[in-house]
Amino acid sequence: MEDNPTVFGQILRGEIPADVIYEDDLCLAFKDISPKAPTHILLIPKKLIPKLSDAKEQDQELLGHMMVAVGKITKMLGIEDTFRLVINNGAKAQQTVFHLHMHILSGRAFNWPPG
Ligand code: 5GP
Repeated sequence: MEDNPTVFGQILRGEIPADVIYEDDLCLAFKDISPKAPTHILLIPKKLIPKLSDAKEQDQELLGHMMVAVGKITKMLGIEDTFRLVINNGAKAQQTVFHLHMHILSGRAFNWPPG
């Protein structure tokens, strides 16, 4: 965690504040500072994986754990029937923070395909 220079590393180390809504041994969820929907939560692993495509075989359990955490978080927020889960992978896919994160978005209409 100490070598994580990203803003999410700073949040994990408690160097900058975040509106945390869920935490367990492996991951942390907090409100996005610039929400793109009425509900916009970011779920991050405590371990630094810069982007999804950097995940290794040994990260399988962590990634599965995060998907189950999404279910818990959305149930907790009462949005389990309608939400969108987004992972931007790489700068050209609009990833700006290089610590893997899942966007959980809800509370508005969504288009398909996404932009
Ligand atoms: P990305 O574009 O990398 O997929 O998403 C990064 C997200 O992190 C953006 O939605 C942005 O608003 C959010 N973000 C950036 N800096 C901070 C911060 O300091 N605190 C919080 N809570 N969210 C942040």
